[in-house]
Amino acid sequence: MAIVIKGGKRFNSTKGTFEQNKNIVIEGDKIVALDKELTTENQRTVDATGKTIIPGLMNLHGHFAWDGFSDLEKQTRYDGPMGYVKAARGLRAAVEAGVTTFRDLACVHDTGFFARQAVRDGLLPGPTVYVCGRAVCRTGGHIWWGNREADGSDEIRRAVREQARGGADWIKLMAHGYTQEEITAAVDQAHQEGRPITTDAGEWTAQAVKAGVDCIEHGGNYSDELIQEILDKKIWVVPTLSPVVLQARKGHEWGMKQSVIERRNKQLKESGRHEGLVRARKAGVKLTFGTDSGSPVVPHDAILPEMEALLEFGIFDSTEQVLQAATIRAAECLRIADKTGSLDIGKQADVVVLNGDLQTDLKIIEHVETVFVRGHWMVENGQSVLPDPRDFQTFANVGS
Ligand SMILES: [Zn+2]
Repeated sequence: MAIVIKGGKRFNSTKGTFEQNKNIVIEGDKIVALDKELTTENQRTVDATGKTIIPGLMNLHGHFAWDGFSDLEKQTRYDGPMGYVKAARGLRAAVEAGVTTFRDLACVHDTGFFARQAVRDGLLPGPTVYVCGRAVCRTGGHIWWGNREADGSDEIRRAVREQARGGADWIKLMAHGYTQEEITAAVDQAHQEGRPITTDAGEWTAQAVKAGVDCIEHGGNYSDELIQEILDKKIWVVPTLSPVVLQARKGHEWGMKQSVIERRNKQLKESGRHEGLVRARKAGVKLTFGTDSGSPVVPHDAILPEMEALLEFGIFDSTEQVLQAATIRAAECLRIADKTGSLDIGKQADVVVLNGDLQTDLKIIEHVETVFVRGHWMVENGQSVLPDPRDFQTFANVGS
């Protein structure tokens, strides 16, 4: 049966404009028609009058194993199987926030693989999940208690191959403390495995860029020369402003330690990172969208704060640019722009209906009413719906 979304406005992510929507027709997992004269009776209609239709949002940096409020190290060490329950909760929270694609970057205890499989199998409602497996870091390195530790080029290559064997879509490297040779080995091995590689690099960004990573997480205050190299190599940057902004401003409501709140406020005042991201964008560096959800004070349904922060700090100039970053740009970064990221005929039906006019009020992004993921009706009246158990693909493999 076809589904027809009638009326309202829709966001054209390719052009970055809002336009009137006569109708969008979904059949199976695809958008099959736009603004056509409807003749068939065999359809279900969604009335979007006074509402806004956008392509499904993409969160390219999150962690389903983490709940968005607890300490990361404690959860990782002591949660055990509770991590999988948290992932199930995260899937639901994300899709109810209009997220139809999610990149899980460093899934401790392999939670991301199970989250991806749960949605693929039709067990739970949730976004399409892309997974990096465990991040690779040096022994005792950044987030080592949740990562695959590896030292030396050979061991790093093995660690990368393990993630690929496990079914990782991406490789994530914590570049901190590695030598140029080690970073280059990780990038080379990821590409040999046919996987793009992203990195949390901090002060090692120049080495990561030199090695030819595909994406940089968080972003920073880079020199003009480094920005030029990022641009020349067409490397993506995912800003992830939410942890610092939300922990600084809302940490007290969430019971965070005062020392952490103070540190975050200090970071927030050091405007260098924001200025660096603004310079990068103005130079033409490709920025996309990720919230670092799962971090304390960043639950998986917190989308608006990241969008507002991107505008507040001038990293983008308009709502339209932010929406493009979170839809078509994200699809380009994931190399799936031929399949999704815009409301076009032939694209996967990843579609969100918001109750209100998003063009005049960005806060409407939180008024998610209806969500389709690959044509599956995942959210209705703001609530996620369990898939029909008859569609469940039992005994599917957790690998890719
Ligand atoms: Zn993260």
